Amino acid sequence: MKKAWLKKTSSKPADFYLHRLYIHASISDLRRRLSCGELTCTEVVSSYLQKIHDQVHLNAFVEVYEKEALEKAKELDARIHQKESWGKLFGVVIGIKDVLCYKGHHVGAASAILKGYTAIYNASAIQRLLDEDAIIIGNLNCDEFAMGSSNENSIHGRVLNAADESRVPGGSSGGSAVAVQANLCMISLGSDTGGSVRQPADFCGIVGMKPGYGRISRYGLLAYASSFDQIGIFSTNIPDLALTLEVIAGPDEFDSTASSHPVPQYTATLESSKKFRIAYFPQCLEHPSLDPEIKTAIEGFMEKMKGLGHSFHAVDFNLLDHIVPTYYVLTTAEASSNLSRYDGVKYGYRTTEKISDLNSLYRKTRSAGFGKEVKKRIMLGTFVLSTGYYDAYYAKAQQVRRLIAESTQQVFKDHDLILMPTTPTPAFRFGEKSHDAIEMFLGDLYTVYANLAGIAGISLPLFKHSNGMPFGLQILSDRLQETQLLQFSQQVMKS
Ligand code: GLN
Repeated sequence: MKKAWLKKTSSKPADFYLHRLYIHASISDLRRRLSCGELTCTEVVSSYLQKIHDQVHLNAFVEVYEKEALEKAKELDARIHQKESWGKLFGVVIGIKDVLCYKGHHVGAASAILKGYTAIYNASAIQRLLDEDAIIIGNLNCDEFAMGSSNENSIHGRVLNAADESRVPGGSSGGSAVAVQANLCMISLGSDTGGSVRQPADFCGIVGMKPGYGRISRYGLLAYASSFDQIGIFSTNIPDLALTLEVIAGPDEFDSTASSHPVPQYTATLESSKKFRIAYFPQCLEHPSLDPEIKTAIEGFMEKMKGLGHSFHAVDFNLLDHIVPTYYVLTTAEASSNLSRYDGVKYGYRTTEKISDLNSLYRKTRSAGFGKEVKKRIMLGTFVLSTGYYDAYYAKAQQVRRLIAESTQQVFKDHDLILMPTTPTPAFRFGEKSHDAIEMFLGDLYTVYANLAGIAGISLPLFKHSNGMPFGLQILSDRLQETQLLQFSQQVMKS
C-alpha cells in the first residue's frame, strides 16, 4: 500500500541530521539533555523522522504523523523556554500499534475492513501518554486484527526484522518491535493476546512486557479476544518500561475489567536487592520443539543467577500440551463475536458490489474486507460456539483454562516468579511457517500461557544464537505483581 506520508519527506539533505543522530540511552537521559539545553524536542523528533525515512523499507510504520509531531515538539520547546512544568514523558517519542484509537487518526488493525475509518476518541492508554507530554510519532504495522506470529498477515505487507531482513520480526506487534529495535522511536505500544508483545521483542532483541490482565485499560484497543487482550510495552531498558507502565496503567471508568487496584510506583522501587524464589517447569525445557541453544542458554542463566543468590525450583506442570489448543479454541470463539461488528454498516469499508438485501451486504463486505487468517479464525470460532459442539470445545476449553489458572496460583503460593523460554526458536524466515497453521500456532507454546492464566510476563533480550539472531527468555509474575517482575528484570539486565 502506498505510504501517503512518504511524500512529506523532509526537504533537508539526507545527511543533514547525521551528525546529530542522537542515541537516547533512556528517558532520564533524554530529560537531562533537554533540561540542560543540550537538545531540543524539535531536534529529537527531526532525528527520529530522518531515521524513519532512512529505514522505510522495514515497513514498520503504517502512517507517520510528521507535521503533527514537529508541531508538538515546537510547543514543548516553547514550554521549556517558559520554564513550565513537565509531564513524566515530556518529549518522549512513542509509536503505537494500529489497533489503538488515537482521536482524529486512522486506526485500521492492518485490515481492509477498516479502510477509511478514523478514531473518534482516544484509547485511555493513549490519553494518558498525551497527558504526560509524550509525542506520538505514528502508528505501527501488525498482523491483521493482531492475529498472527510473524507479521505476514497485514494489508500493509510484511515488516522486516532489522537484525536480518530475510527473517520475520514476530507478530502480531511486529511494527512496534522493529520501530524500537531500529531506533525509530523510543518506546512503542503493542497488544498481547497470546504473546504479541513478548514474542516479537524476543525476535528483535528488545524488552517487551505484558502486564497482568486488567492492569491497563483496554478502552480504545480494538478487541481480538477480550478476556485475553492486554496492551503491552516495548523498550530497550527496564526503567523506561517501568515509567511508561506507571503512566498508562490504572483504574478506568471506561473499562470495567481494568483493575481498581492503585498502580504501584514501579520506578521508585525498581532497584532492589531481593533474592527471588523462581519456579521453572521441566516440561518446558524438555519440550522437543525447543531449540537446544535456547535450552542451554536458559540453563546457563539459572546457574549465573544462582550465583547471585536467587533460587530456582523445578515444579511439575502437566498441562503444557493443552495450552495451545485451549488458547486457539477460546480466542477464536471470542474473536468471532468481537469481529461481528464489522458488517459494512458501522465502520470503514462497505462493498461497492450490487447488493440485494442486508445479508448480501454483510457477506460481500466481510468476504472482501477480511484477510484469510482472520476469516479462518472467525469460522473456527463460530464452529466451536455452535449448538452441538459448544460443550465439546468451548465449554471444555474453559474448564482447562480454569485448571491452568488454578495450578498457576499454586505455583505462586511458594514462588515469586516463573521462568520459561519466550519462544521455541529464534526468528524464522519469511514463508517458513506460513503454509502450516499448526506449526505457526505451536510456536506460541510459551507465550499463550500467561494470557490463559491472566498473569504478567516480560521477555528480556539476553542472548545471541549461532545463526546471528538475538533471543531472550521470559519471566512471569502473578497478575498484579509487576513490581517484582520489574525488580528482578532490572537486576538481570544490570548483571
Ligand atoms: N500469535 C498469537 C495469535 O495469533 C498471539 C497474537 C496476539 O498476542 N495478538 O493469536
